[in-house]
Amino acid sequence: MQQRQQLVIANWKMNGNNQLVEAFSTALSNINANCEVVICPPSIYLHSFKQQLTADTKVKLGSQNVSEQVSGAFTGELSVTMLNDLDVNYVIVGHSERRAMYGESSEIVADKAKRAIDASITPVVCIGESLEERESDKTFDVIAEQLDAVFNALSLSEWSNVVLAYEPVWAIGTGKTATPQQAQEVHEFIRRIVSERLDEETSKALSILYGGSVNAANSAELFAQADVDGGLVGGASLKVDDFTQICQSVSAE
Ligand code: PEP
Repeated sequence: MQQRQQLVIANWKMNGNNQLVEAFSTALSNINANCEVVICPPSIYLHSFKQQLTADTKVKLGSQNVSEQVSGAFTGELSVTMLNDLDVNYVIVGHSERRAMYGESSEIVADKAKRAIDASITPVVCIGESLEERESDKTFDVIAEQLDAVFNALSLSEWSNVVLAYEPVWAIGTGKTATPQQAQEVHEFIRRIVSERLDEETSKALSILYGGSVNAANSAELFAQADVDGGLVGGASLKVDDFTQICQSVSAE
């Protein structure tokens, strides 16, 4: 069976500056890791990041967001065509901060994923429950509802261009990481739903990342879980050494 793609993705959020771009592009250009390494700086730095990577680098760039619209009067938004102009390979959609603070519904998130796929950009679709939802045993219902919109928007073949990120909201930026067992339980559930709604082949090939307070001390154990295919990393992705260690904690299959 073909091995699933392992990925470690840095989500800088609204952090970083020219100095950080330079430090990361220098340190990571020739990183040796058993995974695809993706950096999502604020979009204004995508171009200079790209310019400063070495020509033969395997590091990929990702955007933190994209519009579901094609073009036009959408002040402040970015289109997939613009991301194509910068050779951006990935885009994060449905991050819990965008769902909560910018009112992005599961349907809008699914439309963004579809727009990205149509432009040959891989969407990294984030899903995850809040603390209240977990404590009231709604985790699986929430995940199923968030995924339902994506199933409605994408065809079977389009799923081969999707990455999912399970990011429990209570673990994001809080220092409260899900235990490896908690992460595995939800990842296994996600893979089962994908198998039921689509087919087993698609579910087995799908990369599902864990995100939520991943750091250099906990990444190896999380990534070693059977259904965890790497991570989406926020805070720890702003420190070159920590992020490098996280990437290198992905073990060879
Ligand atoms: C994130 O923002 O996607 C994230 C996982 O953040 P952190 O690693 O800081 O929890």
